[in-house]
Amino acid sequence: MNRREFSKSMLVMGVAAGTGPAAGGSKARAEAGAGFYAEPAKKLPIREFDVIVAGAGTGGVVAAIAAARQGATTAVIEVKGYPGGTATEGGTALHSFYNLWKAFPGVAKRQVVRGIPQEIIERLMKIGGCSGHAEMFEGYNYDSVCTAIDTELYKLVAFEMLVEAGVQVFVNTLLTGAIMDGARVRGVIVESRSGREAFYAKSFVDCTAYGDLAAFAGAKFTEPNDYPVCNSVGIGNVDIDKYHEFIKANKATGQLARGMRSGTPDQIVRAGAEWINVPGLAEGARKIGMALITTTVHDNYLMFIKCNLKLPVSPTSRDAVAKAELEIRKRLAKAVELFRQYVPGCEKAFMARTSPKLCIRRGRLVECDYDITLSDVIEGRHFDDEVMVYGFHDSAPRLQIKNGGTYGIPYRALCVKGIENLYACGMMITSDHEAHMSTRNTVACMGQGQGAGTAAALCAAKNLGTRDLKHTTLREALIGAAVHLEA
Ligand SMILES: Cc1cc2nc3c(=O)[nH]c(=O)nc-3n(C[C@H](O)[C@H](O)[C@H](O)COP(=O)(O)OP(=O)(O)OC[C@H]3O[C@@H](n4cnc5c(N)ncnc54)[C@H](O)[C@@H]3O)c2cc1C
Repeated sequence: MNRREFSKSMLVMGVAAGTGPAAGGSKARAEAGAGFYAEPAKKLPIREFDVIVAGAGTGGVVAAIAAARQGATTAVIEVKGYPGGTATEGGTALHSFYNLWKAFPGVAKRQVVRGIPQEIIERLMKIGGCSGHAEMFEGYNYDSVCTAIDTELYKLVAFEMLVEAGVQVFVNTLLTGAIMDGARVRGVIVESRSGREAFYAKSFVDCTAYGDLAAFAGAKFTEPNDYPVCNSVGIGNVDIDKYHEFIKANKATGQLARGMRSGTPDQIVRAGAEWINVPGLAEGARKIGMALITTTVHDNYLMFIKCNLKLPVSPTSRDAVAKAELEIRKRLAKAVELFRQYVPGCEKAFMARTSPKLCIRRGRLVECDYDITLSDVIEGRHFDDEVMVYGFHDSAPRLQIKNGGTYGIPYRALCVKGIENLYACGMMITSDHEAHMSTRNTVACMGQGQGAGTAAALCAAKNLGTRDLKHTTLREALIGAAVHLEA
């Protein structure tokens, strides 16, 4: 679906997408024909904030904390019952707080993402919810550290940090529309069991992964459908050391890292094989799109065994996704069966957790003032207006940042084109697939969140549009909040 088709369908359904708060009713009734129900217009209660962050996921948690810490009255709207997003549901570990120093002899080890993302890690460390920034001792051409998390503790820590910062956290609340005043977002429509409401604000950050708010606001977007969707299963009652031995014995070692596991330092926390040539297991895994890479922070748990599926259409299609949800659940059950059958130490394994819905690597691609290119990433380009620096690429060693260095994410790359007061953040930016394979990673999304949330608060304080904010002001605020901005 493109922007025009999306706007038309929203109008027919009676949702104002870029046409003002009262527009849904009468026009929709005029356009409604056979097969459509014309929803009557309705008065909604209004609440007012300085900043609204849509989606309390990987980027949204950090954006909302950052905005609130700048003094903005901040609301975050999250459809699930907890914050954390794909970082707690999809991936294998948080990539990456560091530059890729190990693959480049002579290059110094540097932590290049700090600020709120690092605070989350420190909080998790205190309660046994993180491996720490565990150094790779094999397979480090892909990354130099592995930061594995306990996903359930991550949700808790994120929730507590949001509340401590003073963010008003609206979980179990779906954002369903935008209220526009010309090119300015005036508010959003939200729905929950408490009813349908209008939330107004001065600045907005779209962190929904799907680009829902940007699409409702009438921003330009496309849907590249360039990745498989995935659900991942956490497998309990396993022996991680035996799993590691099995991978080693079959000469399939991928990345290995040691870190904190079940309270003991220097344990295997990442054991993975891109592929393994064990007859039966190999074919079985291939059939269900299963990858054998895992991380863990517990002795008896393999986290995030992924089963992938390529959809024929974009994952914004409810009906295609419904079919995929069932197919992937069958695959997850099969994955556990394969572990029980072939992997020593996993004979009595069981499905300990799955994601509540399938995860995506890209939904809508939202057009912003600047589009980060592959050459920006791999050449290690820096910008006058950057909000973070980053040093990881998911396709390393084939593609990686020059000389184990960093590139910058410019502020312009977060400003939604054509809209005066809306930022986009996370997996919805960066059109080039190969460049996106860097900017979409968790730690990049978190850093973008701190940049966008801080900027949104600064704009709201002075009633500025995103393009009126001086970068020196933003830079000062980011450095004051421990963001690392050196190349
Ligand atoms: C299978 C898989 C494996 C991955 N592996 C890794 C890995 O190992 N390491 C790594 O660093 N990265 C990995 N990634 C990439 C990374 O996890 C994501 O790109 C990143 O987490 C996306 O963050 P985000 O903030 O854009 O979105 P999300 O974290 O998905 O947050 C979006 C939030 O918005 C909410 N939301 C959406 N729509 C609405 C709405 N209309 N109203 C209210 N709330 C809404 C969602 O519920 C969600 O909480 C992986 C991704 C996938 C899918």
